[in-house]
Amino acid sequence: MASQVIREWVGIQQFPEPTQTKLHEILGKLKEENVSTLTILVMGKGGVGKSSTVNSLIGERVVSVSAFQSEGPRPVMVQRSRAGFTLNVIDTPGLIEGGYVNDQALAIIKQFLLNKTIDVLLYVDRLDSYRVDNLDRQVITAITDSFGKAIWRRSLVVLTHAQLSPPDGLNYDDFVSRRADGLLKVVCLGAQIKKHELKDSEIPVVLVENSVRCQTNQDDEKILPNGTAWIPNLVETITEVVLKGGKSILVDKKLIEGPNPNEKHKLLIPLILAFQYFFVVKPIQRSIRGDISKENKPSWELRDMGLASHSIFSRNKI
Ligand code: GDP
Ligand code: MG
Repeated sequence: MASQVIREWVGIQQFPEPTQTKLHEILGKLKEENVSTLTILVMGKGGVGKSSTVNSLIGERVVSVSAFQSEGPRPVMVQRSRAGFTLNVIDTPGLIEGGYVNDQALAIIKQFLLNKTIDVLLYVDRLDSYRVDNLDRQVITAITDSFGKAIWRRSLVVLTHAQLSPPDGLNYDDFVSRRADGLLKVVCLGAQIKKHELKDSEIPVVLVENSVRCQTNQDDEKILPNGTAWIPNLVETITEVVLKGGKSILVDKKLIEGPNPNEKHKLLIPLILAFQYFFVVKPIQRSIRGDISKENKPSWELRDMGLASHSIFSRNKI
């Protein structure tokens, strides 16, 4: 198979100068740490802004965006290179259909990812959703079951539609932190992150505004209501997650076809049961049998067995 020529990341030149400078700085930092390829997997429910975020990040319209959730069924990998650095971004279709996780869509995504290494997961949702529910938990559980809970050490929660006016006169930062906390709680539940692991698995939350009507600063950079230029902020946070350690996730055959990576220990259950049978149950049975055989049987039992000493019964009979 002919190797695919990776296109130059020209979209970077669409960004205002200060954004370009920051992005080049970040790429330089990654190269210093010997990171020359970054593969970012984008997942979440349908219609939350996954594809829009991919386009914003690449700086080109590379994947199609739809207001009506008619996403194609297949993931798409966009590859771009810049100054010896390769960026791979994998956009995926939403996982929910008819109120449940679509297992077929999940299987297609897993097959697509075969032999790829995921460096970062962007778990995308909307800032302006006010509820977290069982559906969120289902999607997060499906991701955990597919790639193992280790993927959450390499993840960011991305909240789109970040240019909003909070309802009921709430302060913007308060609103963001309440929404983030609610979602992170569900992520921890679905990702099976235990309380004592929380600190280790701190998942950053990043705000994104993909709308063309996004506010800009004097340098023409797209900014959030709190003034942060969000594109360099997103790329910087991705870099921090990559550099803070934790392994990238290699999606191999074993991960896709093997048992749920979080349930590997369950394979030990038959072994533990066999151990218990031979080394606990059997010895107990043996010792009970021994005790019974040594026991002085009561006379009535001996009588029933026809073993009673003749004298006792013969006396009684007289
Ligand atoms: P996906 O299904 O998760 O890939 O979502 P899309 O990227 O296709 O976006 C769904 C709809 O939401 C489209 O109409 C987008 O224009 C819109 N959208 C996505 N992100 C944002 C955002 O940050 N702000 C606003 N206002 N609209 C967005
Ligand atoms: Mg999409």
